[in-house]
Amino acid sequence: MTASLPENSHKYDLGFARWVYKNINGADKLSMCMQCGTCSGSCPIGSDMDNGPRKLFMMIRAGMKEEVFNSDTLWNCTSCYRCTVRCPRGIPVTYIVQGLAAKATHLGYATEQDAARFAKSFWWSLTHFGRTDERLVTAKYYFSFGLVKGIKKSLENLKIAFGMVMKGRMHLGPPHKVSANKDLRAILAKAQEIEAREQQGGAES
Ligand code: SF4
Ligand code: SF4
Repeated sequence: MTASLPENSHKYDLGFARWVYKNINGADKLSMCMQCGTCSGSCPIGSDMDNGPRKLFMMIRAGMKEEVFNSDTLWNCTSCYRCTVRCPRGIPVTYIVQGLAAKATHLGYATEQDAARFAKSFWWSLTHFGRTDERLVTAKYYFSFGLVKGIKKSLENLKIAFGMVMKGRMHLGPPHKVSANKDLRAILAKAQEIEAREQQGGAES
């Protein structure tokens, strides 16, 4: 369980920042951020983010909880680690951005972002088959927009799918599965147990 969230704010308000320091992996170092902008300036995808990491970290300090959890920076980050290796303060920027994305999902934000929808479809395939079945991942992603949009998107991309089948890049028939599916479920259950315990610890500290 995660410690209760403070209210949204647009004033300089460290309540949300303190919550982030405690509940997001690596964020205990965030108070060291000197807003130099090296992370955002190094980010290859910065122009496709609404904020970028430097601004996101200032928004955390400003108590802008809603804007932070709804920021597409969390979902457009490709985890290339450029920001992390270049940060002069040794702040694990990538881990913090990833941690905020995971927390946004757990807290019920991130329902509309394309990358969040795709990540959920990917995770669904992984947990069910131990593999990513490109057909099912794609179908689950498309139909997450609703039945009509799902059919429309599927038809729009039928030619690509057909081409992949012809080139042997997409198979027909039942999905591939790992043979040790039972073991996979045991691993995932253990990982969930550890995560819940860690979150409980974070909430109590
Ligand atoms: S590079 Fe590091 S210190 Fe500079 S703004 Fe980014 S996180 Fe802050
Ligand atoms: S890890 Fe993410 S935020 Fe950092 S530079 Fe790469 S894409 Fe940008």
